[in-house]
Amino acid sequence: MNKLSEVRVRMAPSPTGFFHVGSARTALYNWLFARHHKGKFILRVEDTDVTRSSKEMIQVILDGLTWLGLNWDEGPYFQSQRVQSYNYYVQQLLKNKSVYYCYCRPEDLEKEKQAAYKQKIDWHYDRRCLYLSPAEREEKEKLNIPKAVRFLVPDKPVEYNDIIHGKVRREASDIEDFIIMRHNGMPTYNLACVIDDYEMGISHVIRAVEHITNTPKQLLLYEALGFKKPAFAHLPLILGEDKKKLSKRHGAVSLMSYRDQGFLPEAMVNFLSLLGWSPGSDKEIMKIGEIIKSFSLERINPANAVFDIKKLEWMNGQYIMNLSVEDLSELLKPYVVKCKFMTKEDLDHRRDWFLKICKLMQPRLRVLSDLEKRSRFFFSDDFDYDKSALSKNCNQNTQTMIKKYLISMEDIEPFNADTIEQHLRNFATENNLKARDIIHPVRIFVTGQEGGPGLFETLELVGKDACLKRLKKIIAEDRGSDG
Ligand code: GLU
Repeated sequence: MNKLSEVRVRMAPSPTGFFHVGSARTALYNWLFARHHKGKFILRVEDTDVTRSSKEMIQVILDGLTWLGLNWDEGPYFQSQRVQSYNYYVQQLLKNKSVYYCYCRPEDLEKEKQAAYKQKIDWHYDRRCLYLSPAEREEKEKLNIPKAVRFLVPDKPVEYNDIIHGKVRREASDIEDFIIMRHNGMPTYNLACVIDDYEMGISHVIRAVEHITNTPKQLLLYEALGFKKPAFAHLPLILGEDKKKLSKRHGAVSLMSYRDQGFLPEAMVNFLSLLGWSPGSDKEIMKIGEIIKSFSLERINPANAVFDIKKLEWMNGQYIMNLSVEDLSELLKPYVVKCKFMTKEDLDHRRDWFLKICKLMQPRLRVLSDLEKRSRFFFSDDFDYDKSALSKNCNQNTQTMIKKYLISMEDIEPFNADTIEQHLRNFATENNLKARDIIHPVRIFVTGQEGGPGLFETLELVGKDACLKRLKKIIAEDRGSDG
Protein backbone atom coordinates (compact mmCIF):
# COMPACT_ATOMS: atom_id res chain seq x y z
CA MET A 1 0.00 0.00 0.00
CA ASN A 2 1.15 3.48 -0.78
CA LYS A 3 2.18 4.86 2.60
CA LEU A 4 1.90 8.42 1.36
CA SER A 5 -1.81 8.30 0.70
CA GLU A 6 -4.07 8.53 3.71
CA VAL A 7 -6.27 5.59 4.58
CA ARG A 8 -9.90 6.67 4.53
CA VAL A 9 -12.56 4.04 5.05
CA ARG A 10 -16.26 4.21 5.68
CA MET A 11 -19.18 2.41 7.18
CA ALA A 12 -22.24 2.97 5.03
CA PRO A 13 -25.28 1.41 6.68
CA SER A 14 -28.80 1.61 5.29
CA PRO A 15 -31.11 2.45 8.20
CA THR A 16 -33.82 0.05 7.10
CA GLY A 17 -33.63 -2.64 9.76
CA PHE A 18 -32.05 -3.32 13.12
CA PHE A 19 -28.26 -3.14 13.54
CA HIS A 20 -27.11 -6.66 12.79
CA VAL A 21 -23.98 -8.26 14.25
CA GLY A 22 -22.75 -8.60 10.65
CA SER A 23 -22.95 -4.83 10.18
CA ALA A 24 -21.20 -4.38 13.50
CA ARG A 25 -18.34 -6.57 12.28
CA THR A 26 -18.10 -4.58 9.02
CA ALA A 27 -17.94 -1.36 11.03
CA LEU A 28 -15.33 -2.86 13.34
CA TYR A 29 -13.04 -4.04 10.53
CA ASN A 30 -13.21 -0.62 8.88
CA TRP A 31 -12.48 1.05 12.20
CA LEU A 32 -9.58 -1.31 12.98
CA PHE A 33 -8.10 -0.73 9.55
CA ALA A 34 -8.37 3.05 9.96
CA ARG A 35 -6.85 2.97 13.44
CA HIS A 36 -4.05 0.61 12.36
CA HIS A 37 -3.05 2.99 9.57
CA LYS A 38 -3.81 6.15 11.54
CA GLY A 39 -6.36 7.00 8.90
CA LYS A 40 -9.96 8.15 9.04
CA PHE A 41 -13.16 6.23 9.72
CA ILE A 42 -16.16 7.89 8.12
CA LEU A 43 -19.83 7.25 8.81
CA ARG A 44 -22.29 7.61 5.97
CA VAL A 45 -25.96 6.82 6.24
CA GLU A 46 -27.39 5.42 2.99
CA ASP A 47 -30.93 6.65 3.38
CA THR A 48 -32.01 7.27 -0.20
CA ASP A 49 -34.78 4.70 0.20
CA VAL A 50 -36.91 7.22 2.06
CA THR A 51 -39.87 4.92 2.59
CA ARG A 52 -37.80 2.26 4.34
CA SER A 53 -35.37 4.47 6.29
CA SER A 54 -36.22 5.83 9.69
CA LYS A 55 -34.78 8.16 12.33
CA GLU A 56 -35.10 5.42 14.95
CA MET A 57 -32.98 3.06 12.90
CA ILE A 58 -30.33 5.72 12.41
CA GLN A 59 -30.25 6.18 16.18
CA VAL A 60 -29.89 2.41 16.69
CA ILE A 61 -26.83 2.42 14.42
CA LEU A 62 -25.25 5.38 16.20
CA ASP A 63 -25.96 3.78 19.59
CA GLY A 64 -24.51 0.45 18.46
CA LEU A 65 -21.28 2.01 17.19
CA THR A 66 -20.99 4.10 20.33
CA TRP A 67 -21.57 1.09 22.56
CA LEU A 68 -18.75 -0.80 20.81
CA GLY A 69 -16.49 2.25 21.08
CA LEU A 70 -16.16 2.63 17.31
CA ASN A 71 -15.83 6.38 17.16
CA TRP A 72 -16.04 7.96 13.73
CA ASP A 73 -13.86 10.82 12.53
CA GLU A 74 -16.28 12.30 10.00
CA GLY A 75 -20.00 12.24 9.50
CA PRO A 76 -22.58 11.00 9.78
CA TYR A 77 -23.18 12.12 6.22
CA PHE A 78 -26.65 11.49 4.87
CA GLN A 79 -27.17 10.53 1.24
CA SER A 80 -30.66 12.01 1.30
CA GLN A 81 -28.97 15.42 1.69
CA ARG A 82 -26.59 14.93 -1.22
CA VAL A 83 -28.99 14.56 -4.14
CA GLN A 84 -27.60 17.71 -5.83
CA SER A 85 -24.23 16.11 -6.12
CA TYR A 86 -25.71 12.98 -7.70
CA ASN A 87 -27.65 15.11 -10.19
CA TYR A 88 -24.49 16.92 -11.17
CA TYR A 89 -22.67 13.71 -12.04
CA VAL A 90 -25.68 12.28 -13.88
CA GLN A 91 -25.48 15.32 -16.14
CA GLN A 92 -21.81 14.56 -16.78
CA LEU A 93 -22.66 10.99 -17.65
CA LEU A 94 -25.44 12.12 -19.99
CA LYS A 95 -23.00 14.48 -21.69
CA ASN A 96 -20.42 11.80 -22.30
CA LYS A 97 -23.12 9.36 -23.40
CA SER A 98 -22.33 6.75 -20.75
CA VAL A 99 -26.00 6.64 -19.81
CA TYR A 100 -29.37 7.01 -21.49
CA TYR A 101 -32.93 7.81 -20.52
CA CYS A 102 -35.29 4.91 -20.09
CA TYR A 103 -39.01 5.60 -20.37
CA CYS A 104 -40.14 2.04 -19.64
CA ARG A 105 -42.52 1.62 -16.74
CA PRO A 106 -40.86 -0.39 -13.94
CA GLU A 107 -44.05 -2.44 -13.45
CA ASP A 108 -44.11 -3.45 -17.16
CA LEU A 109 -40.48 -4.53 -17.01
CA GLU A 110 -41.17 -6.44 -13.82
CA LYS A 111 -43.96 -8.38 -15.56
CA GLU A 112 -41.62 -9.28 -18.42
CA LYS A 113 -39.00 -10.38 -15.94
CA GLN A 114 -41.44 -12.59 -14.04
CA ALA A 115 -42.71 -14.19 -17.24
CA ALA A 116 -39.15 -14.97 -18.34
CA TYR A 117 -38.35 -16.29 -14.88
CA LYS A 118 -41.30 -18.70 -15.07
CA GLN A 119 -39.95 -20.05 -18.35
CA LYS A 120 -36.46 -20.25 -16.81
CA ILE A 121 -35.11 -17.73 -19.32
CA ASP A 122 -32.48 -15.15 -18.33
CA TRP A 123 -33.86 -11.68 -18.61
CA HIS A 124 -31.84 -8.53 -19.27
CA TYR A 125 -33.12 -5.14 -20.24
CA ASP A 126 -32.95 -5.12 -24.05
CA ARG A 127 -31.89 -1.49 -24.50
CA ARG A 128 -35.13 -0.62 -26.26
CA CYS A 129 -34.93 2.98 -25.02
CA LEU A 130 -31.34 3.33 -26.23
CA TYR A 131 -32.54 2.59 -29.74
CA LEU A 132 -35.46 5.03 -29.77
CA SER A 133 -35.45 7.30 -32.80
CA PRO A 134 -35.19 11.06 -32.13
CA ALA A 135 -38.84 11.38 -33.08
CA GLU A 136 -39.93 8.66 -30.66
CA ARG A 137 -37.89 10.26 -27.93
CA GLU A 138 -39.38 13.66 -28.64
CA GLU A 139 -42.84 12.18 -28.48
CA LYS A 140 -42.20 10.69 -25.03
CA GLU A 141 -40.75 13.95 -23.79
CA LYS A 142 -43.79 15.83 -25.06
CA LEU A 143 -46.05 13.45 -23.18
CA ASN A 144 -43.95 14.00 -20.06
CA ILE A 145 -43.44 10.30 -19.53
CA PRO A 146 -41.38 9.75 -16.37
CA LYS A 147 -37.89 8.51 -17.10
CA ALA A 148 -35.09 6.74 -15.33
CA VAL A 149 -31.40 6.92 -16.23
CA ARG A 150 -29.64 3.71 -17.29
CA PHE A 151 -25.96 3.04 -17.55
CA LEU A 152 -24.77 1.83 -20.95
CA VAL A 153 -22.57 -1.13 -20.08
CA PRO A 154 -19.52 -1.24 -22.38
CA ASP A 155 -18.81 -4.44 -24.22
CA LYS A 156 -15.74 -5.58 -22.29
CA PRO A 157 -15.24 -7.68 -19.17
CA VAL A 158 -14.66 -6.03 -15.82
CA GLU A 159 -11.80 -7.26 -13.67
CA TYR A 160 -10.35 -6.23 -10.37
CA ASN A 161 -8.26 -7.63 -7.54
CA ASP A 162 -10.17 -8.03 -4.32
CA ILE A 163 -7.87 -7.84 -1.29
CA ILE A 164 -9.64 -10.81 0.30
CA HIS A 165 -10.93 -12.84 -2.66
CA GLY A 166 -8.22 -12.22 -5.26
CA LYS A 167 -9.04 -11.76 -8.93
CA VAL A 168 -12.72 -11.13 -9.67
CA ARG A 169 -13.90 -11.06 -13.29
CA ARG A 170 -17.33 -10.39 -14.69
CA GLU A 171 -18.28 -10.67 -18.36
CA ALA A 172 -20.01 -7.66 -19.91
CA SER A 173 -22.84 -9.91 -21.09
CA ASP A 174 -23.62 -10.71 -17.43
CA ILE A 175 -24.14 -7.07 -16.52
CA GLU A 176 -27.44 -5.49 -17.42
CA ASP A 177 -27.71 -1.80 -18.30
CA PHE A 178 -28.48 -0.88 -14.70
CA ILE A 179 -30.52 2.06 -13.51
CA ILE A 180 -28.51 4.79 -11.79
CA MET A 181 -31.35 7.25 -11.23
CA ARG A 182 -34.93 6.28 -10.64
CA HIS A 183 -38.07 7.82 -12.14
CA ASN A 184 -38.53 9.77 -8.90
CA GLY A 185 -35.14 11.46 -9.31
CA MET A 186 -33.49 9.49 -6.49
CA PRO A 187 -30.13 7.86 -7.19
CA THR A 188 -29.75 4.11 -6.89
CA TYR A 189 -27.31 2.59 -4.43
CA ASN A 190 -24.58 2.02 -7.04
CA LEU A 191 -24.49 5.63 -8.21
CA ALA A 192 -24.71 7.26 -4.80
CA CYS A 193 -22.11 4.89 -3.39
CA VAL A 194 -19.56 5.62 -6.13
CA ILE A 195 -20.01 9.37 -6.00
CA ASP A 196 -19.80 9.42 -2.22
CA ASP A 197 -16.80 7.13 -2.05
CA TYR A 198 -15.08 9.40 -4.58
CA GLU A 199 -16.05 12.69 -3.00
CA MET A 200 -15.25 11.44 0.49
CA GLY A 201 -11.82 10.31 -0.70
CA ILE A 202 -12.36 6.68 0.30
CA SER A 203 -9.16 4.68 -0.22
CA HIS A 204 -10.49 1.22 0.70
CA VAL A 205 -14.03 -0.05 0.40
CA ILE A 206 -14.40 -2.74 3.06
CA ARG A 207 -17.89 -4.23 3.06
CA ALA A 208 -19.98 -7.37 3.19
CA VAL A 209 -19.50 -9.99 0.50
CA GLU A 210 -23.16 -9.53 -0.52
CA HIS A 211 -21.96 -6.43 -2.37
CA ILE A 212 -19.33 -8.20 -4.45
CA THR A 213 -21.81 -8.41 -7.34
CA ASN A 214 -22.24 -4.62 -7.26
CA THR A 215 -18.53 -3.94 -7.52
CA PRO A 216 -18.18 -4.49 -11.32
CA LYS A 217 -21.05 -2.03 -11.90
CA GLN A 218 -19.44 0.46 -9.59
CA LEU A 219 -16.08 0.06 -11.34
CA LEU A 220 -17.78 0.87 -14.66
CA LEU A 221 -19.13 4.05 -13.09
CA TYR A 222 -15.66 4.98 -11.79
CA GLU A 223 -14.32 4.61 -15.33
CA ALA A 224 -17.14 6.54 -16.97
CA LEU A 225 -16.71 9.39 -14.48
CA GLY A 226 -12.92 9.36 -14.71
CA PHE A 227 -12.62 8.79 -10.93
CA LYS A 228 -9.63 7.14 -9.26
CA LYS A 229 -10.73 3.72 -7.99
CA PRO A 230 -10.42 2.65 -4.36
CA ALA A 231 -9.23 -0.81 -3.30
CA PHE A 232 -11.97 -3.32 -2.49
CA ALA A 233 -12.17 -5.93 0.26
CA HIS A 234 -15.34 -8.01 0.66
CA LEU A 235 -15.79 -9.56 4.08
CA PRO A 236 -16.94 -13.18 4.31
CA LEU A 237 -20.44 -14.12 5.39
CA ILE A 238 -21.26 -14.88 8.99
CA LEU A 239 -23.06 -18.20 9.37
CA GLY A 240 -24.94 -19.80 12.23
CA GLU A 241 -23.68 -23.11 13.59
CA ASP A 242 -25.97 -24.90 11.13
CA LYS A 243 -23.86 -23.28 8.38
CA LYS A 244 -26.79 -21.20 7.20
CA LYS A 245 -26.57 -17.43 6.90
CA LEU A 246 -26.95 -15.84 10.33
CA SER A 247 -30.54 -14.75 10.76
CA LYS A 248 -33.28 -14.41 13.35
CA ARG A 249 -33.60 -18.19 13.33
CA HIS A 250 -30.31 -18.30 15.21
CA GLY A 251 -31.65 -16.22 18.08
CA ALA A 252 -30.36 -12.75 18.68
CA VAL A 253 -28.80 -11.07 15.68
CA SER A 254 -29.44 -7.50 16.70
CA LEU A 255 -26.32 -6.06 18.31
CA MET A 256 -28.27 -4.32 21.05
CA SER A 257 -29.87 -7.54 22.25
CA TYR A 258 -26.35 -8.68 23.20
CA ARG A 259 -25.84 -5.50 25.17
CA ASP A 260 -29.14 -6.09 26.97
CA GLN A 261 -28.19 -9.64 27.89
CA GLY A 262 -25.07 -8.30 29.53
CA PHE A 263 -22.30 -8.92 27.05
CA LEU A 264 -19.50 -6.42 27.58
CA PRO A 265 -18.62 -4.24 24.59
CA GLU A 266 -14.92 -5.10 24.96
CA ALA A 267 -15.73 -8.84 24.75
CA MET A 268 -18.02 -8.28 21.78
CA VAL A 269 -15.31 -6.33 19.96
CA ASN A 270 -12.74 -9.02 20.71
CA PHE A 271 -15.11 -11.75 19.53
CA LEU A 272 -16.20 -9.92 16.36
CA SER A 273 -12.60 -9.12 15.49
CA LEU A 274 -11.89 -12.86 15.28
CA LEU A 275 -14.96 -13.57 13.19
CA GLY A 276 -13.13 -13.85 9.89
CA TRP A 277 -9.77 -12.35 10.83
CA SER A 278 -6.92 -14.02 12.68
CA PRO A 279 -3.87 -12.42 14.28
CA GLY A 280 -1.77 -15.36 13.10
CA SER A 281 -1.45 -16.88 16.56
CA ASP A 282 -3.71 -18.87 18.87
CA LYS A 283 -4.22 -15.91 21.12
CA GLU A 284 -7.91 -15.20 21.61
CA ILE A 285 -8.25 -12.71 24.43
CA MET A 286 -6.68 -9.56 23.09
CA LYS A 287 -6.68 -5.98 24.22
CA ILE A 288 -7.99 -3.50 21.69
CA GLY A 289 -4.52 -2.00 21.26
CA GLU A 290 -3.12 -5.40 20.32
CA ILE A 291 -5.93 -6.02 17.85
CA ILE A 292 -5.38 -2.65 16.20
CA LYS A 293 -1.66 -3.30 16.01
CA SER A 294 -1.92 -6.69 14.32
CA PHE A 295 -5.01 -6.08 12.18
CA SER A 296 -4.60 -6.48 8.42
CA LEU A 297 -7.01 -7.15 5.57
CA GLU A 298 -4.63 -9.77 4.19
CA ARG A 299 -5.26 -11.94 7.25
CA ILE A 300 -9.01 -12.11 6.64
CA ASN A 301 -10.10 -15.58 5.63
CA PRO A 302 -12.26 -15.56 2.48
CA ALA A 303 -14.18 -18.59 3.79
CA ASN A 304 -17.41 -17.94 5.66
CA ALA A 305 -17.10 -17.40 9.41
CA VAL A 306 -19.24 -19.26 11.96
CA PHE A 307 -20.85 -17.38 14.84
CA ASP A 308 -20.12 -19.56 17.86
CA ILE A 309 -22.27 -18.27 20.71
CA LYS A 310 -20.57 -20.59 23.24
CA LYS A 311 -17.25 -19.00 22.41
CA LEU A 312 -18.72 -15.52 22.80
CA GLU A 313 -20.14 -16.50 26.22
CA TRP A 314 -16.81 -17.96 27.28
CA MET A 315 -14.99 -14.85 26.14
CA ASN A 316 -17.46 -12.61 27.94
CA GLY A 317 -16.94 -14.64 31.11
CA GLN A 318 -13.20 -14.01 30.79
CA TYR A 319 -13.79 -10.28 30.47
CA ILE A 320 -16.12 -10.33 33.47
CA MET A 321 -13.40 -12.15 35.46
CA ASN A 322 -10.93 -9.42 34.60
CA LEU A 323 -13.10 -6.60 35.92
CA SER A 324 -12.45 -5.09 39.31
CA VAL A 325 -15.19 -6.06 41.78
CA GLU A 326 -16.19 -2.39 42.01
CA ASP A 327 -16.64 -2.12 38.26
CA LEU A 328 -18.53 -5.39 38.14
CA SER A 329 -20.86 -4.22 40.90
CA GLU A 330 -21.65 -1.04 38.97
CA LEU A 331 -22.47 -3.11 35.88
CA LEU A 332 -24.61 -5.56 37.86
CA LYS A 333 -26.62 -2.95 39.74
CA PRO A 334 -29.04 -2.22 36.88
CA TYR A 335 -29.79 -5.96 36.59
CA VAL A 336 -30.53 -6.25 40.30
CA VAL A 337 -32.85 -3.26 40.08
CA LYS A 338 -34.47 -4.50 36.86
CA CYS A 339 -35.21 -7.89 38.44
CA LYS A 340 -36.73 -6.00 41.38
CA PHE A 341 -34.40 -7.80 43.79
CA MET A 342 -33.57 -4.49 45.46
CA THR A 343 -33.75 -0.78 44.81
CA LYS A 344 -30.66 1.18 43.91
CA GLU A 345 -30.82 3.01 47.24
CA ASP A 346 -30.93 -0.26 49.20
CA LEU A 347 -28.00 -1.55 47.20
CA ASP A 348 -25.98 1.55 47.96
CA HIS A 349 -26.87 1.14 51.59
CA ARG A 350 -25.55 -2.44 51.64
CA ARG A 351 -22.56 -1.74 49.41
CA ASP A 352 -20.04 -4.03 51.16
CA TRP A 353 -22.48 -6.90 51.25
CA PHE A 354 -23.24 -6.46 47.54
CA LEU A 355 -19.54 -6.25 46.68
CA LYS A 356 -19.02 -9.60 48.40
CA ILE A 357 -21.83 -11.15 46.35
CA CYS A 358 -20.29 -9.74 43.17
CA LYS A 359 -16.91 -11.20 44.08
CA LEU A 360 -18.43 -14.58 44.82
CA MET A 361 -20.43 -14.66 41.60
CA GLN A 362 -17.74 -13.17 39.35
CA PRO A 363 -16.28 -16.50 38.14
CA ARG A 364 -19.76 -17.88 37.53
CA LEU A 365 -21.20 -15.25 35.22
CA ARG A 366 -20.97 -15.64 31.47
CA VAL A 367 -23.26 -12.68 30.90
CA LEU A 368 -24.36 -10.08 33.43
CA SER A 369 -27.99 -11.18 33.22
CA ASP A 370 -26.96 -14.63 34.55
CA LEU A 371 -27.12 -12.94 37.92
CA GLU A 372 -30.90 -13.18 37.84
CA LYS A 373 -31.22 -16.96 37.85
CA ARG A 374 -27.98 -17.78 39.62
CA SER A 375 -28.15 -15.48 42.59
CA ARG A 376 -31.78 -14.84 43.32
CA PHE A 377 -31.40 -16.60 46.69
CA PHE A 378 -29.11 -13.84 48.00
CA PHE A 379 -31.92 -11.32 47.66
CA SER A 380 -35.12 -13.24 48.22
CA ASP A 381 -36.64 -16.30 49.93
CA ASP A 382 -38.80 -16.75 46.90
CA PHE A 383 -36.94 -19.02 44.49
CA ASP A 384 -37.47 -22.41 42.87
CA TYR A 385 -35.83 -25.57 44.20
CA ASP A 386 -34.01 -27.94 41.90
CA LYS A 387 -36.33 -30.88 42.53
CA SER A 388 -34.02 -33.62 41.28
CA ALA A 389 -31.21 -32.28 43.49
CA LEU A 390 -33.55 -32.30 46.47
CA SER A 391 -34.54 -35.92 46.01
CA LYS A 392 -31.00 -37.01 45.15
CA ASN A 393 -29.39 -35.56 48.26
CA CYS A 394 -32.05 -35.83 50.92
CA ASN A 395 -33.76 -38.65 52.75
CA GLN A 396 -35.40 -39.20 56.18
CA ASN A 397 -31.97 -39.23 57.87
CA THR A 398 -31.14 -35.90 56.30
CA GLN A 399 -34.29 -34.43 57.79
CA THR A 400 -33.32 -35.56 61.25
CA MET A 401 -29.74 -34.41 60.85
CA ILE A 402 -30.71 -30.98 59.48
CA LYS A 403 -33.14 -30.48 62.37
CA LYS A 404 -30.27 -31.01 64.77
CA TYR A 405 -27.87 -28.90 62.74
CA LEU A 406 -30.38 -26.10 62.61
CA ILE A 407 -30.65 -25.93 66.39
CA SER A 408 -26.92 -25.77 66.89
CA MET A 409 -26.55 -23.27 64.06
CA GLU A 410 -28.56 -20.74 66.05
CA ASP A 411 -25.55 -20.39 68.36
CA ILE A 412 -23.05 -19.38 65.66
CA GLU A 413 -21.92 -15.91 66.57
CA PRO A 414 -20.61 -13.94 64.74
CA PHE A 415 -22.15 -15.47 61.65
CA ASN A 416 -19.41 -15.41 59.05
CA ALA A 417 -17.81 -17.82 56.59
CA ASP A 418 -15.05 -18.85 59.05
CA THR A 419 -17.30 -19.44 62.05
CA ILE A 420 -19.86 -21.25 59.89
CA GLU A 421 -17.20 -23.56 58.48
CA GLN A 422 -15.65 -24.24 61.88
CA HIS A 423 -19.03 -25.00 63.35
CA LEU A 424 -20.12 -27.27 60.49
CA ARG A 425 -16.92 -29.31 60.63
CA ASN A 426 -17.20 -29.74 64.41
CA PHE A 427 -20.83 -30.70 64.07
CA ALA A 428 -19.90 -33.33 61.45
CA THR A 429 -17.21 -34.85 63.67
CA GLU A 430 -19.45 -34.91 66.72
CA ASN A 431 -22.19 -36.65 64.79
CA ASN A 432 -19.96 -39.05 62.97
CA LEU A 433 -20.76 -37.54 59.62
CA LYS A 434 -18.77 -36.35 56.67
CA ALA A 435 -18.85 -32.58 56.11
CA ARG A 436 -20.29 -33.08 52.65
CA ASP A 437 -23.29 -34.97 54.09
CA ILE A 438 -24.31 -31.64 55.57
CA ILE A 439 -22.93 -29.28 52.95
CA HIS A 440 -24.99 -30.66 50.04
CA PRO A 441 -28.42 -30.65 51.69
CA VAL A 442 -27.83 -27.30 53.38
CA ARG A 443 -26.86 -25.75 50.06
CA ILE A 444 -29.97 -27.07 48.35
CA PHE A 445 -32.26 -26.01 51.22
CA VAL A 446 -30.81 -22.50 51.41
CA THR A 447 -30.19 -21.74 47.72
CA GLY A 448 -32.46 -24.17 45.86
CA GLN A 449 -29.47 -25.18 43.73
CA GLU A 450 -27.09 -28.11 43.71
CA GLY A 451 -24.03 -26.08 42.69
CA GLY A 452 -22.85 -22.58 43.29
CA PRO A 453 -20.19 -20.54 45.02
CA GLY A 454 -18.50 -21.65 48.28
CA LEU A 455 -21.19 -22.64 50.79
CA PHE A 456 -19.76 -20.87 53.84
CA GLU A 457 -19.46 -17.50 52.07
CA THR A 458 -22.90 -18.06 50.60
CA LEU A 459 -24.51 -18.68 54.00
CA GLU A 460 -22.80 -15.64 55.45
CA LEU A 461 -24.22 -13.42 52.70
CA VAL A 462 -27.69 -14.97 52.80
CA GLY A 463 -27.60 -14.14 56.51
CA LYS A 464 -28.36 -16.14 59.63
CA ASP A 465 -32.05 -15.31 59.87
CA ALA A 466 -32.76 -16.22 56.27
CA CYS A 467 -30.72 -19.45 56.54
CA LEU A 468 -32.62 -20.56 59.63
CA LYS A 469 -35.92 -19.60 58.09
CA ARG A 470 -35.27 -21.59 54.91
CA LEU A 471 -34.04 -24.69 56.74
CA LYS A 472 -37.07 -24.60 59.03
CA LYS A 473 -39.40 -24.15 56.11
CA ILE A 474 -38.09 -27.19 54.27
CA ILE A 475 -38.31 -29.31 57.39
CA ALA A 476 -41.82 -28.09 58.15
CA GLU A 477 -42.89 -28.92 54.61
CA ASP A 478 -41.15 -32.28 54.93
CA ARG A 479 -39.69 -31.73 51.49
CA GLY A 480 -36.23 -32.93 52.28
CA SER A 481 -37.26 -36.57 52.36
CA ASP A 482 -39.48 -36.77 49.30
CA GLY A 483 -38.07 -34.07 47.04
N1 GLU B 1 -25.73 0.49 2.41
C1 GLU B 1 -25.13 -0.78 2.18
C2 GLU B 1 -25.60 -1.76 3.24
O1 GLU B 1 -26.09 -1.35 4.28
C3 GLU B 1 -23.62 -0.74 2.26
C4 GLU B 1 -23.03 -0.60 0.96
C5 GLU B 1 -21.54 -0.43 0.94
O2 GLU B 1 -20.86 -0.57 1.95
O3 GLU B 1 -21.08 -0.14 -0.17
O4 GLU B 1 -25.50 -2.93 3.01
